[in-house]
Amino acid sequence: MEIEIATVGGYEEVGRQMTAVRMDDEIVVFDMGLNLSQVLIHDNVQTETMHSLDLIDMGAIPDDRIMSELDGEVTAIVPTHGHLDHIGAIPKLAHRYDAPVVATPFTIELVRDQIADEDKFDVDIDLQVMNSGEQMRISDQVQMEFVNVTHSTIDAINPVLHTPEGAIVYGLDKRLDHDPVLGDPIDMKRFREIGREGDGVLCYIEDCTNANQKGRTPSESVARKELHDTMLSLEDYDGGMVATTFASHIARVSSLLEFAQEIGREPILLGRSMEKYTGTATNLDVALPDNIEMYGHRRAIDQSLERIMEDGKENFLPIVTGHQGEPRALLTRMGRGETNYDFDTGDKVIFSAGIIPEPTNEGNRYQSERLLKMQGARIYDDIHVSGHLSQEGHYQMLEALQPQQLIPAHQDLKGLSGYVNTANAFGYEVGRDMHLSRNGNIIQLTE
Ligand SMILES: [Zn+2]
Repeated sequence: MEIEIATVGGYEEVGRQMTAVRMDDEIVVFDMGLNLSQVLIHDNVQTETMHSLDLIDMGAIPDDRIMSELDGEVTAIVPTHGHLDHIGAIPKLAHRYDAPVVATPFTIELVRDQIADEDKFDVDIDLQVMNSGEQMRISDQVQMEFVNVTHSTIDAINPVLHTPEGAIVYGLDKRLDHDPVLGDPIDMKRFREIGREGDGVLCYIEDCTNANQKGRTPSESVARKELHDTMLSLEDYDGGMVATTFASHIARVSSLLEFAQEIGREPILLGRSMEKYTGTATNLDVALPDNIEMYGHRRAIDQSLERIMEDGKENFLPIVTGHQGEPRALLTRMGRGETNYDFDTGDKVIFSAGIIPEPTNEGNRYQSERLLKMQGARIYDDIHVSGHLSQEGHYQMLEALQPQQLIPAHQDLKGLSGYVNTANAFGYEVGRDMHLSRNGNIIQLTE
């Protein structure tokens, strides 16, 4: 079987992921993501109304024109989880391919929302749900399997293509969490089996976001403990307290809701994406505390903040958007004094999020924290564990899968360097069995 891999997007940056695998006449596309920082850098850009070619020129979505050089038909588009850098380009690109989007239930619901928001194209895409542990036939000779993984959102999987030449494992995004707060632990047993059955793993495409980090990424249960410790220490504070985290990080949002109630504050989720992600999780019966108030529209948010100020802000924990300091997110607007919420000297702001390592985010977050501090707020920073593997996790994945060939992804060259060193220590070499690619390249795996 002839197998080629097109590294379409996300091989020169963290963002706009897209990879295509051609197996004879069949092509499977993994992820179609948006590089949000390329959007935020411009003032007031509405991607919903923009044409895909303009977004490609902006570097916001993958330049998929390379796909015309692959001699086959796309049979499935497979986003691994619901983060924007993996699904954000689907409304702009997917309709060009006559193929269904196949993903886990939570991811499919988020894709459905994305498509509903699309203004530029009349998008009609077939959405198919597949759960982790399940398989799907791609062609006579190829099966696709979803292996359960753990990440900073729920329902994440790594897709595996079982071909006559061996398995192709698409490893974006994950960490090795054996004690997650929501959902099942990562299925390392299955990865070890895949590494040893039949012809083993032909190729492994790896998430290198944190490849320059030494050691091991801790479990979500560690972040939960630290958050619990921080919030309990503030139980007696009788002023304002505000928290922010990734809206898509359902496990973390759930911990914040629970601990707010434990210290006698009423949690309220505020911001468009808070309402969207938590609302979607609630609709899918993900276990979250009952009767949580959430508001996504500007007017409802303003009214809610007004009520918090009237009833006494010491009784509430607004959980808001803006963990990266996004200029138009609620926490940033609160910091600029554009809302009804007033900070007093000593009020607490909890960032249960790290900065996504990218200069635009770093600048935005710096500004947001400065604005909050100028109003007297005290910042509790980085109460977080990453959703991505560090070096020892990468090494453990190599032990489990024993792939014949490697393709590091999800970073620029500098970011990939830590992975090259880790894989070197395992015996891989660039140019022999490790392919350092760029956006728009095609790698021939078998002839
Ligand atoms: Zn992700």
